[in-house]
Amino acid sequence: MSDAGAENLREILRQIEKATKAAGRAPASVRLIAISKTFGADEIAPVLDAGQRLFGENRVQEAKAKWPGLRERYQGIELHLVGPLQTNKVKEALSVFDAIHSLDRPKLAAELAKEIQKAGKSPLLFVQVNTGAEPQKAGVLPENADAFIKECRETYSLEIAGLMCIPPADEAPAPHFALTKKIAERNGLTLLSMGMSADFESAINLGATHVRVGSAIFGSRPKIV
Ligand SMILES: *Cc1c(COP(=O)(O)O)cnc(C)c1O
Repeated sequence: MSDAGAENLREILRQIEKATKAAGRAPASVRLIAISKTFGADEIAPVLDAGQRLFGENRVQEAKAKWPGLRERYQGIELHLVGPLQTNKVKEALSVFDAIHSLDRPKLAAELAKEIQKAGKSPLLFVQVNTGAEPQKAGVLPENADAFIKECRETYSLEIAGLMCIPPADEAPAPHFALTKKIAERNGLTLLSMGMSADFESAINLGATHVRVGSAIFGSRPKIV
């Protein structure tokens, strides 16, 4: 079992390379974020041993419990927060994460600005767009994205690196990826965090620079997550 993750990683990297080439894009233009939420250090270590250094988690507490120990054992780890962020966890989030993919409201922008200034360094910031306008999902609505990005830049002096989206589970993802790319382009944003285990090839075809792949590397998770 412990080698399954490493084997799956190699296969996913092959598929990413193939999709990147098929899209006529440069090999280094797509990065794999291995989403390790719910998996423990024992399952993550083989994937680190296989050379992967970029990982994603969706909860601040879980990441804080798991990653400091792994960072002591492995050099060069980069950790991205891909789940929602509460304002009261911003400070902690900045202490563990190198990037935040879920910036989606002014209150969070204000808190991030405050804590980034205190810390003297900024994580890579992605604005999450709720392309399917799903009420249960985080993210700014597509029609509000331009104004929110402007507000982040002008009111809060935040440097926004890109956009992130999670298409509705029951819809074809491609239109959502295309919409996200369009919003990014008209706002001068170069990074696109989109594509998961089931659809990263389509996301790469539509311009993803960061694909977030969990279960295809680590195996299936308990249903509740
Ligand atoms: C869990 C998660 C992923 C990975 O999903 P898989 O289908 O397991 O690849 C990607 N993005 C976010 C935001 C997630 O929460």
